[in-house]
Amino acid sequence: MTDILVVGSYNAGLTVYGPRLPSPGETVVCDGFDAGPGGKGANQAIGAKRLGANAAFVTKVGDDAFGREARATLLAEGLPEWGILVGQAPTGVAFILVDTTAENMIAIAPGANLELTTHDVLSLGERARSANIVLVQLECTAALATGIAAWARASGKRPILNPAPARDLTVKELSQFDIITPNETELRSLATCNGITGRDPMEQAAALVRAGVPNVVVTLGQNGALWLCAAGARHFPAYPVQAVDTTGAGDAFNAGLVAALGNGDPLGVAIDQGCRAGAFCVTRRGVINGLPHPDDLRNVLEARRSS
Ligand code: ADP
Repeated sequence: MTDILVVGSYNAGLTVYGPRLPSPGETVVCDGFDAGPGGKGANQAIGAKRLGANAAFVTKVGDDAFGREARATLLAEGLPEWGILVGQAPTGVAFILVDTTAENMIAIAPGANLELTTHDVLSLGERARSANIVLVQLECTAALATGIAAWARASGKRPILNPAPARDLTVKELSQFDIITPNETELRSLATCNGITGRDPMEQAAALVRAGVPNVVVTLGQNGALWLCAAGARHFPAYPVQAVDTTGAGDAFNAGLVAALGNGDPLGVAIDQGCRAGAFCVTRRGVINGLPHPDDLRNVLEARRSS
């Protein structure tokens, strides 16, 4: 039985660290290299699993070395093998260049991620159908996200969208999800493409709720998170931590949120757990490395109590 189904991307991340970013046509000799698993779907699925959720991850990789590495990584995290599908295209790859000021350039070749369809998920039968929470992001096709939402709603599941990276979706499409979890930039982009002109996240999220999105949870980096629904608005302060690398905070937040919902916690408790997971993540270099285990969340809570 699966409680939480995460449907989304896997990308092999190849990061080169150098003195500066190259200009077009230029070659810069760099001094560091790091390779590892990534992709928003994989990060969120691994994060939920680490927090003890009964989670499965449905993704599509290529029949290549990166795909085999993906399988080994996901299995080592305890995610089930049945969700790891193999497509025609190569495994998704992200090339990341980072300079000494932490400025970066990223190019992604989504490859097999774009071949993942709603039909693939439905073909998994009972193993996928047993989930009551389904989390998707926007690194695969928009059709996958909306197809999954329609399926989840029709079968009484709770569909959740982390609308990252930003993509134009109509309010009608967004309203298919019970919860959406944009960061400030993604919220602004969703507001703009729907003709919403709110000055700040509170106004923009309120307009989306009025237009029919049941729950808008906005992550605000070091300012915590905001939850808006028809019943009102609530702010969740961030946990005080020493940030060293803010990459992946949103992935950790979504993982913490769905893991709590999978436990039967109400949304307010789940958002708080998301904030704790995001806070822990920024204290570690790398995303996978920053996805917390339950003890890590307890330490973040203790740090706030004693601050
Ligand atoms: P994204 O990575 O998608 O831009 P955010 O930066 O909004 O997402 O971070 C997600 C969550 O992680 C926030 O809601 C917050 O709770 C937590 N978080 C992020 N940055 C910090 C920080 N510097 N200190 C404490 N918590 C943070």
